[in-house]
Amino acid sequence: MDLPRGYISYSQINTYQNCPQKYYFSYIEEISPPVNEKIFLGVVFHATLEHYFNQKISGNEIKKQELVTLFCEKFRTLREEREIFWDSSQAEIEDRGISFIKYFENNLAPGITPLMVEKELEVELAEVGVRLKGILDLVEQDFSITDFKTTNAKWSGSRMKRSFLQMVIYKYLFEQSFGLINPKLKLKILYANPSKNVKYQEVFLNPDDIDLKQMFKIIHYVVENISKGVFYKNESYICGFCEFNDICHQLKK
Ligand code: SF4
Repeated sequence: MDLPRGYISYSQINTYQNCPQKYYFSYIEEISPPVNEKIFLGVVFHATLEHYFNQKISGNEIKKQELVTLFCEKFRTLREEREIFWDSSQAEIEDRGISFIKYFENNLAPGITPLMVEKELEVELAEVGVRLKGILDLVEQDFSITDFKTTNAKWSGSRMKRSFLQMVIYKYLFEQSFGLINPKLKLKILYANPSKNVKYQEVFLNPDDIDLKQMFKIIHYVVENISKGVFYKNESYICGFCEFNDICHQLKK
């Protein structure tokens, strides 16, 4: 079986590692269940930052309050475009997003010098016989690579580990595309619960050759299993948060 998208990405790898059956529903069957409110908030936050950084790269400064207005417009437009599973009130989620945007504007934006935003990179992995693709949130003028995360609570060490592979992939894609620059890798995590009390975590990652070898091993394993049609259920605590829970449950009958 060929890869359904014709390439492999971190998001596909992560889905497969969490549960091969979930990968099957998402990428082979292409079922689009309602997204949860946290993912939706992340999408709107990223879309707002993308606009901000593009303006900054073009030499246009966005005035105070403009970014919040833009966030609210995107929130209202994008929520009409797909079904969302709301666990909290929509106003509460919008408020949390506004708090994230204000925190970003006041505390992070002044120190960021963007070079590329939402940069799509793709390289051929001859060792695995597959194309690897990724979209980098932000590359700054010092070539540091940043991925933004929005969430409810501070990330634990194990949560951090799950995103490590993502950053190893981004570093590899960047160096294969632009040369061996050894870019700094940063995770900028904004979290809030309740919405008014935004906190911030910044994590620097420094993968080495062993991590790179591990990346190739994981990609090889995932691609091989997908190609062989291996899609078993990995039933665990994650089923409780899985958007395919209902469909998956029906399969048991
Ligand atoms: S409900 Fe559980 S087993 Fe089924 S697809 Fe989701 S994570 Fe996998």
